[in-house]
Amino acid sequence: MGCIFCKIANKEINTEIISEDDDFFVFKDINPKAPVHLLIIPKAHTGPVNTLDTKNKEIIGGIILKAKEMAEKVGVAESGYRLIFNVGKDAGMEVDHLHLHLLAGKPPYGN
Ligand code: AMP
Ligand code: ZN
Repeated sequence: MGCIFCKIANKEINTEIISEDDDFFVFKDINPKAPVHLLIIPKAHTGPVNTLDTKNKEIIGGIILKAKEMAEKVGVAESGYRLIFNVGKDAGMEVDHLHLHLLAGKPPYGN
């Protein structure tokens, strides 16, 4: 058992790593829904959006700034991209470790 994204952040499961710093880990989605599909996660286990509160403000701000930085790094900052948080069952959320989807490339695409 255990959290799959914690295992990814700890490199117990291999992924295509795009970026890593002290707080965030960025990797390619294994089942891409767009030509560019990255997942940005905090390294420390954090629940999905519906579990967040003001104590998580730094992570909430940081994850969006990291997504912006990644869009620049992979060259889609000019062409554009979507940032998506899936929350709960009806959104199809599968993993309860906070993650931000970055989708880019030729539209239409979604998640
Ligand atoms: P969500 O549906 O918002 O919970 O998104 C979870 C995402 O994690 C899905 O898009 C999956 O394709 C992706 N995913 C699950 N396992 C892995 C993995 N081992 N490596 C990369 N992406 C994964
Ligand atoms: Zn986790």
